[in-house]
Amino acid sequence: MALLSVQDVTVRFGGILALDGISFDVPDNAIVGLIGPNGAGKTTLFNVVTRVYTPQSGRIDFEGQSLLDVRPELIIKRGVARTFQNVELFSRMTVIQNVMVGLHSEIRHPLGFVTAMFHLPSNSRKEETALARAREALDYVGLKDLEERPVAGLPFGTLKAVELARAIVSRPKLLLLDEPAGGLNHDEVADLVQLFRRIHKDFGLTMLIVEHHMNLVMRVSDHVVCLDFGKKIAEGAPREVQANQRVIEAYLGTEDGAA
Ligand code: ATP
Repeated sequence: MALLSVQDVTVRFGGILALDGISFDVPDNAIVGLIGPNGAGKTTLFNVVTRVYTPQSGRIDFEGQSLLDVRPELIIKRGVARTFQNVELFSRMTVIQNVMVGLHSEIRHPLGFVTAMFHLPSNSRKEETALARAREALDYVGLKDLEERPVAGLPFGTLKAVELARAIVSRPKLLLLDEPAGGLNHDEVADLVQLFRRIHKDFGLTMLIVEHHMNLVMRVSDHVVCLDFGKKIAEGAPREVQANQRVIEAYLGTEDGAA
């Protein structure tokens, strides 16, 4: 059984068909690449899976159960975590506080999550455990020394690593990564490939990766799905998809294709 199954999903924004009857599976323990030129519908698909958007039709099943009746804030509890194309962190909070946000569905505090995070009265054992787990996640992505630094002003590559730590701290089963290599230099991309392989191996994490960086997608993915104008135009092994005529044509004439 697939860990994530997307079946005939359609999303319309006014006259725009952002997703037009999309179906594909993400097998358990696989790394699946989701590619396609700008505006193909990749981020919309992530937003549907994480319940930011509700599709007009279709099904999204996770471990055989529908995600469509799960509230967005509870998606993480079901085992689905994500990162964002433009990095979404709380700039006034420290690195460790941002990572702890990834545990918000697990930290229950009578005065609320913010109180718990800022260590105001009645710090429970649960919160201490959360802090230890956040430290462990930061250590894992190589940022242990920055834990007390405010996020504002940190380099983009570092912010992406903080976001990744926040995504893995809850030990999700499925990780959705939206353009993780965007804005990174050559060496940073090489490090990222290693980090993804390590995360996949150490945590047995299933990953769905949206990425324009073809080299990264082809190197890390077991399986690749290509969208164009909201439709699935190809799916298969990385080499097959890379050589697919429709995929080549979709990228030709676009900035991605030129790159
Ligand atoms: P990119 O690689 O540029 O991020 P993408 O493949 O992620 O592109 P989406 O961002 O999913 O593409 O956009 C798919 C289509 O849906 C585009 O035509 C976009 O303009 C449109 N769209 C996405 N979100 C909205 C929205 N909230 N309201 C209206 N239209 C939207």
